Amino acid sequence: MQVLIHNASQILTMKRGLGRLKNISLLVEDGNIKRLGKIKPKANYRVIDAHGCVVMPGFVDSHTHLVFGGSREEEFAMRIKGMKYEAIARAGGGIASTVKKTSQADEETLFGLGRERIEKVTRHGTTTVEIKSGYGLLPETEYKMLHVIRRLKHRVPIDVVPTFLVHAVPGKIRRNDYMELVTDEMIPFVASRKLAVFCDVFCDRIAFSRKESKMILEAARDHDLKLKIHVDEFANIGGARLAAELKCTSADHLLVSTKRDVIAMKRSGVVPTLLPGTSVFLRLKDKPNIRAFRAARSEVAIASDFNPGSCMIYSMLKIVALACLSYGMHVEEALIGATRNGAKALGMFDRIGSIEEGKQADLVVLDVDNYMKIPYEFGEDIVRYTIKKGKIIWKR
Ligand SMILES: [Zn+2]
Repeated sequence: MQVLIHNASQILTMKRGLGRLKNISLLVEDGNIKRLGKIKPKANYRVIDAHGCVVMPGFVDSHTHLVFGGSREEEFAMRIKGMKYEAIARAGGGIASTVKKTSQADEETLFGLGRERIEKVTRHGTTTVEIKSGYGLLPETEYKMLHVIRRLKHRVPIDVVPTFLVHAVPGKIRRNDYMELVTDEMIPFVASRKLAVFCDVFCDRIAFSRKESKMILEAARDHDLKLKIHVDEFANIGGARLAAELKCTSADHLLVSTKRDVIAMKRSGVVPTLLPGTSVFLRLKDKPNIRAFRAARSEVAIASDFNPGSCMIYSMLKIVALACLSYGMHVEEALIGATRNGAKALGMFDRIGSIEEGKQADLVVLDVDNYMKIPYEFGEDIVRYTIKKGKIIWKR
């Protein structure tokens, strides 16, 4: 099956910089990118008219918590009135409330919710999504979540990358006992059943210490899981440096990381991943040091962090806009962050994240005639087609 995406105003290959090409066509064969150039339609081609459109790699959302029960709009309203996150948590909100709702929901319900949400992200141009567990805390619900993510992986048209997230210490269990449960029981179980590709830990003042995070990630590495880490969202407790030391695939949040942290991550090949939706949603004052990332020539990824507490924004188009508006990232940096560098944050750049011959034809056709309109037309439905492995999976 050959598909010709004909005569696009701009194609962003993301091969070097944006890799911008003008008035050009793209031929897809058997799900892969075959050729770029001035290509005439043939009778056996399926032709997609991209005149007046920007064509770019499908968005790679490398950080989400997309499987969860319940919702937390009351917290949102309370935060706007000025209530602090800690006070909300004490009143039974925060992660604990999602843990409760996710534990109560059966597998079928969670699967249905996950599938609906994936349909929504697909409509907004996302072709690969990472999904974390972490709303179970205890084995039963954590494994239930990972089973749901595995079912989604087999049942939805986009790539799903599962991550086992060690999120918080559950109530009614001693800290040390929980650490032992995670390192000696849960990680070996998850790894042996191939329920996750990555292990992730929330390393922050309100979650796990640097020492605990190290123990968890080392146990995960011993079981051949790849590593991610939530760091420097609220307090810098040395998490970014730990990410560098352990050569994590990515370190995510990074609002209070120092210049030295940025350099250490760059030297170790850690992909720094920024989550601007969360900053806006929680109205956080700290912003990542974009200049330091630029100076270090870091390959910064951006992702949605879609979750019920701190960011209900799942559209990568909006995340690109917020990266520009809230963090001051350049439009080009944000677009590269949402595709090429997102693929790197998942260790998948050999297959996705850029438009190159032989790569998977994961593409998005946008109803704008130049790429600067992508964040500029903030909130507009500009996705005309989402294409996964050469197949149209969403069409407006
Ligand atoms: Zn997160």
